[in-house]
Amino acid sequence: METFSVDIERDEEGYLGRECPECEKYFKIKPGTGIPDFSDCYCPYCQHFGPQDHFWTKQQIEYAQSIVLNKVSGDLLKTMKKMETKPKRNQFLSIGITVKGKPTPITYYSEKELEEKLTCKNCTLEYAIYGAFGYCPDCAEHNSQQIAEANFELIIKILDLAKDASPEIKGKLIENGLEDCISVFDGFARERCSDLHPKLSFQNIYTARQKLEKSGIDIAEGLDASEWDFVVQQFQKRHLLAHKMGVADEEYIKKTGCGSDQLGKKVSITEHDVRSLVKYLRVIVASLCEHVKRS
Ligand SMILES: [Zn+2]
Ligand SMILES: [Zn+2]
Repeated sequence: METFSVDIERDEEGYLGRECPECEKYFKIKPGTGIPDFSDCYCPYCQHFGPQDHFWTKQQIEYAQSIVLNKVSGDLLKTMKKMETKPKRNQFLSIGITVKGKPTPITYYSEKELEEKLTCKNCTLEYAIYGAFGYCPDCAEHNSQQIAEANFELIIKILDLAKDASPEIKGKLIENGLEDCISVFDGFARERCSDLHPKLSFQNIYTARQKLEKSGIDIAEGLDASEWDFVVQQFQKRHLLAHKMGVADEEYIKKTGCGSDQLGKKVSITEHDVRSLVKYLRVIVASLCEHVKRS
């Protein structure tokens, strides 16, 4: 039997397309990054584990098959062409042979664009997946903490930029920063705790803590009481921003324990508040990663 080797090209950014043989979902890796000489692969979505050779995409296989068919049919046509003869005029009966046809065409493909491009913090593999959260195809590390960290860094960078902005813009960027903190944390914690508490929302961090305590996890374990109260207050402020134009209501007064003279007033959010919130949320994120392992 003859064997053929076909080169599977990487895309213009150097990524190689992959498809999980189990869940059939698509992702990309950058060969040469990550664990050296690692010839196996984890699916970033379902964690199926197997040799890299099992992760070819349907398009890559189709392409490789078409390359081989193209070569074989091309060679065959060439051989047959050599058998072409013209009828000879001077013979009483002469038959000519003409070979027509083209080699089987090659089925080209291109790799898809994916939403989230990451470099694994653990093994440095560069990979791209749909959505945001998944496992590293080389070392199987879940990326939820990494994504939360990257987003917190972005919030800090925006706060740095806000320093030079006009007061109006600055105020808005700080408010947005607060809202982003809660969205980032909610997205992270939902993902992290999806096995444990599939529908738990973390927009109300106070209730989320109570629910997780029933599973023996205290998300505030790295914070002292006043730091935790501060975090709860910032989450309450975000709730006011999102639903009450930032104006303090009875519920806010009750939940945060601040003076009733604040009722009906717009809550103030400072740059320092947002920076502190990022600092404390990082502690909670790290503690959730330690106590809640993704299966
Ligand atoms: Zn899979
Ligand atoms: Zn990794």
